[in-house]
Amino acid sequence: MPKTFPVTRELFDDVMVPNYAPSTVIPVRGKGSRVWDQQNKEYVDFAGGIAVNCLGHCHPNLVNALHTQSEKLWHLSNVMTNEPALRLAKKIVDSTFAEKVYFANSGGEANEAAFKLARRWALEEHGEHKSQIISFKQGFHGRTFFTVTVGGQPAYSDGFGPKPGNIDHAIYNDLDSVKALISANTCAVVMEPLQGEGGIVSPTAEFVKGVRELCDQHHALLVFDEVQTGVGRTGDLYAYMGLGVTPDILTTAKALGGGFPIGAMITTTDIAKHLKIGTHGSTYGGNPLACAVAEAAFDTVNTAEVLAGVKAKSALYFAGLTAINEQYHVFQEVRGKGLLIGAVLNDQYKGRAKEFLNAAMAEGVMTLVAGANIVRFAPSLVIPEADIAEGLARFERAVAKLAK
Ligand code: PLP
Repeated sequence: MPKTFPVTRELFDDVMVPNYAPSTVIPVRGKGSRVWDQQNKEYVDFAGGIAVNCLGHCHPNLVNALHTQSEKLWHLSNVMTNEPALRLAKKIVDSTFAEKVYFANSGGEANEAAFKLARRWALEEHGEHKSQIISFKQGFHGRTFFTVTVGGQPAYSDGFGPKPGNIDHAIYNDLDSVKALISANTCAVVMEPLQGEGGIVSPTAEFVKGVRELCDQHHALLVFDEVQTGVGRTGDLYAYMGLGVTPDILTTAKALGGGFPIGAMITTTDIAKHLKIGTHGSTYGGNPLACAVAEAAFDTVNTAEVLAGVKAKSALYFAGLTAINEQYHVFQEVRGKGLLIGAVLNDQYKGRAKEFLNAAMAEGVMTLVAGANIVRFAPSLVIPEADIAEGLARFERAVAKLAK
């Protein structure tokens, strides 16, 4: 008989590496946009597992895909291909600018592949001098050593010894700062088409267009990290579609699997050809179980109805948060796009976003933060209007307590 023992939050401190500080609440089940903890207390989920659970919890299409595939085939490795991976790749190609797909298991891994590909492309097409990567301060691209170094938060990349080289950081929404860095030696400019972790910062249309033009002038690739913005989050299938600027390489993860780990790097045939046989790989990338779930998530999200729903639900959040603010005067601004929304605390509440998250949790609504000053919302793309109303009512009670 396997040993049984109580599973408590204290057990985390006993047995887990201390790199996270999880909530004292341990959720045990979820359905749609509601979650229940060990004590059967119910929460409205406005966090979505950090923009992952795009169809809420245990969506029937995903449960069905997982269940069906789980009785067929779980894993093969890339020594063989498999039907779910090819079906998903075909659907992604048919719906985006891309012609080729590489599957990974996470956003960080998809970005790692993107950055390695950009370097290979530049080396083979132009020569060794062209290795500079330009990315942005406050940008976030994952936690591998390459991605954390491309990311623009030294707090995440410092303290691990020598970093991968020739990576420079410009200022988001400041085209002159890109102009000052870019040259014939630049192999890629890497950006989020809406900075998520860095504070829910939308780019201006001129900035994105300007970056595209600079990349073209200097023969550099434009890489869009759509790990957080992709698969419907902003109301378009991918955020680039709403910006009118097409990247050369795009990465997608999080919502792609609707809660099952998967990531992908997508690009054109001409660029993809530089990742020749043996140049890069992953044991699990393109795993049939992950791809079967992701295919169901992709099919479900990629409809006019769901994408239009994101825009309509977004308006409810903006209106609801603005109304809360009119009463309690806690936010300086409510910003973001689609269902990636940031409520920026004003000076009086500066640095206290975590307190809002905790107070909201106590009232029965799960939220996120994006840095110390911003309460972030990234709910299911199909959250019912009644759950938005109930969650916002709970959030208002939390705000009322803190604003006293
Ligand atoms: N890129 C962006 C824009 C992200 O928001 C994240 C995660 O928050 C990542 C990459 C890293 O993804 P993962 O944690 O799946 O490696």
